[in-house]
Amino acid sequence: MTRSSSFPALILRTYPVGEIHLGVRLLTAEQGVVQALAHGARSARGKLRGVVGPFHSGLCYLYSDPVKNSHKITDFDVRSFRTGIREDLDRYCTAALWIESVLAGHAGGSEAAELFALLENCLDILSEIDPPKVPRIEALFLWRFLDILGAQPEPGRCSLCESIIPGAVEASYSSVTGGFVCSRCGGVRPPSLSAGARAYLARSDLLSVEEAVELGLAAESMRELRRLLIHITSEVVEVPLRSVAVTLGLQGDTAQR
Ligand SMILES: [Zn+2]
Repeated sequence: MTRSSSFPALILRTYPVGEIHLGVRLLTAEQGVVQALAHGARSARGKLRGVVGPFHSGLCYLYSDPVKNSHKITDFDVRSFRTGIREDLDRYCTAALWIESVLAGHAGGSEAAELFALLENCLDILSEIDPPKVPRIEALFLWRFLDILGAQPEPGRCSLCESIIPGAVEASYSSVTGGFVCSRCGGVRPPSLSAGARAYLARSDLLSVEEAVELGLAAESMRELRRLLIHITSEVVEVPLRSVAVTLGLQGDTAQR
């Protein structure tokens, strides 16, 4: 028994299948990540050619065989191509990092709708963002992604003794507890986060992504924040996000505690 369905979807990744087809990994609000075949998407006359591509969002028409658990894309009505992402290397690397993280860390389930909305929103912003704000949106996505996965550390509280970490001090992150630790419990050792970066995260939580991306942070604190968020995300999804870390010049900088 087969069935047809249509739903909003975001294309995460494509890969060649045979001579003329594309394998596709989609993110959907209801089912999370779905694997499907875009029939003839690489052939010169295929109607899915140029339509099915990474970062594209739209209405996906799917033909499914539940017995074989196979899905075929019969049409894809694109709402947004997000061409701005491919036009800039920093934007592209940021989108690639997010998608790598989502594919590694998202197991489906109840958080799919929230993740779908977050990634859609952040990719829309990224596609048109000014260069200086790229690090901000990169960090904001990862921070909220960790929250969706239930792995976001509390920036203002020690994960060991549960005391409030004073707002004006640097705080270390512990991979053992998956949280920040106060100076009494762990001293200040890398990886750590400045008071400014921790305050930045706390303030961003009160805002929409569109508003939070307007918040500035000193360049050195932003570098530290991105490094730490990639470090935590790699640990949580249990995959070293290595290619992206290399791109950002962050290799060898993920000291374990
Ligand atoms: Zn403590």
